Amino acid sequence: MNKWKFYTTNEIKPEGWLRRQLEIQAEGLSGHLHKIWPDIRDSKWVGGNREGWERVPYWLDGFVPLAYQLEDDEMIATVKKYIDAILAQQQNDGWICPCKNSKRATYDTWALQLICKTLAVYYDCSGDERIPAVIYRAMQNYYALLKSGEIKLFGWAKYRWFETFISLNFLYERYKEEWIKDLAKIIKAQGFDYNTATKDWEKPSHVWLRRTHIVNITMMLKSEAVSHELLGEEYTDNAEKLRTILDKFNGTAFEGFTGDEVLSGLDPARGTELCSVVEQMFSYEHLFAVTGDNKWAERLEVLAFNALPATLTEDMWTHQYVQMVNQVACQRTMIMAPFSTNGPEAHLFGLEPNFGCCTANFNQGWPKFAISPFMHKDNTIINAVMLPCVLNDNGITIRLETDYPFKNTMHYSIESDKDFDFVIRIPSFAQNLTVNGENAESKDLTFAVKQGKTEIDIAFATTPYLKDRPNGLFALQMGSLLFSVPIEYEKKMREYKLLGVERKFPYCDYQFIPKTEWNYGFAGTEFEVTFNGIGKYPFSQAEPPVTITAPMQQIEWGHKPAYKTVCRKTPKSTTPISEVTGIKLQPYGCSRLRMTEMPVLGKK
Ligand SMILES: [Zn+2]
Repeated sequence: MNKWKFYTTNEIKPEGWLRRQLEIQAEGLSGHLHKIWPDIRDSKWVGGNREGWERVPYWLDGFVPLAYQLEDDEMIATVKKYIDAILAQQQNDGWICPCKNSKRATYDTWALQLICKTLAVYYDCSGDERIPAVIYRAMQNYYALLKSGEIKLFGWAKYRWFETFISLNFLYERYKEEWIKDLAKIIKAQGFDYNTATKDWEKPSHVWLRRTHIVNITMMLKSEAVSHELLGEEYTDNAEKLRTILDKFNGTAFEGFTGDEVLSGLDPARGTELCSVVEQMFSYEHLFAVTGDNKWAERLEVLAFNALPATLTEDMWTHQYVQMVNQVACQRTMIMAPFSTNGPEAHLFGLEPNFGCCTANFNQGWPKFAISPFMHKDNTIINAVMLPCVLNDNGITIRLETDYPFKNTMHYSIESDKDFDFVIRIPSFAQNLTVNGENAESKDLTFAVKQGKTEIDIAFATTPYLKDRPNGLFALQMGSLLFSVPIEYEKKMREYKLLGVERKFPYCDYQFIPKTEWNYGFAGTEFEVTFNGIGKYPFSQAEPPVTITAPMQQIEWGHKPAYKTVCRKTPKSTTPISEVTGIKLQPYGCSRLRMTEMPVLGKK
């Protein structure tokens, strides 16, 4: 039984910096992909001849909630055009994917799992009454084909089987029919069991395997959470067991894992694929909703406020395939990629560097996060993540005004036509908590809210600290924000056309060439925090909302052998080669080139 239920997109509207971030996304690539990218514009899903598999469903999974969150009529019209075209292709027996009947047995049904998940998101936004029956028929057809042995799970569908449960749960809630449970069992039985793969996670490898694939793994973390109830199984927090192993051998400072694109070990100069960032966020949103365990919400915040914004340009027109925690340059490498199974351009910013999956899939990151600040159950509402927004729930309105995570003050204005319980999740790092100006114990707060108007003011302090990282390195963190030494850079633009796909400003490729020093270590722990206010772009490198000045010295760090633009995993020497200087560190999410994990000088 889920601890919390999600609200629908229409019940939570973004405000403040979050709304601005979603507007930037709509003004950037997300809002234009269907006009410029052949795999969306001319997809087989809408009667064209381009990719007819995961790209349209991936894009819609983010574009649909974005359109409804911003109540943008033109975007909503585009949503309807795509949905109508997809629905029109559904066959009499329920099959919905764009593939010939004779090819069904060789069509990887990952696309079917994905489109049904996306249709559930669309229903949540639009209330379009056609959708439950469309998913019902598609899944009943899936059931018939799997049960008869005409098709089976293979490829991505086998490794992402749990994604089907988003739509299976949606169906069961509405139809309560036994075949849905039977289908759930067949899918799990044919799906891959990641508990059998953990040995392969202990060492980075150059062999590309689905069992060590970073996107599969981050999706998988929610598998027990989304499937156990329908399968009639006990919940065992298996996600925590698996996450602990992944973190021990592949963890990053931003609560994710290295994977470029298979798991890549504990090196801050290795990559993390963008798809994995948004999938891990989605997994943690579900893990928090199902378990109510604060650890998932805390990790979700760190991913969302750091890893997601850092790997897109601040205008959200271009992105990287992989980001590095210590990223001193985004330049094509001359010899071979510093990654295991990605090419030498995977860390460039562009339209589809390395491969186009992230171009389609990154779109879900902010919109899904933006429906997660409030959740509910019975007569209780929880504020799970402190994001500026307004909730409208059947006669209850809660407006949360805040610049969190950049500033730790929250103002809640509540108007309600009934009594209810209101819980506010207080992050474990909060200090000196005050509630309406009075000191309070730093733990989750519960208010018995009475009918009428209620105002609540929350404030707390956060202290910068050096977080232990592997390899004798440390990362500066304050609350959910990581701080990095920003490296100024020159942008080198490249416009070209390849395989019918045009790269043109503002969706051209960019190389970022460093112009300032990056070879630093921490020379002390006297940190000075400055709040600058949030500018036009919340995650701007030129105007970061908050900075921390730290005493630092230069050291001889050096590049990885054979590379001129990738830093070594650890510095060559930690002997200072400069005087101590105050360096302004800024949020990781604002810093496109950066050093994040660095040694503390004079400390082993
Ligand atoms: Zn991807």
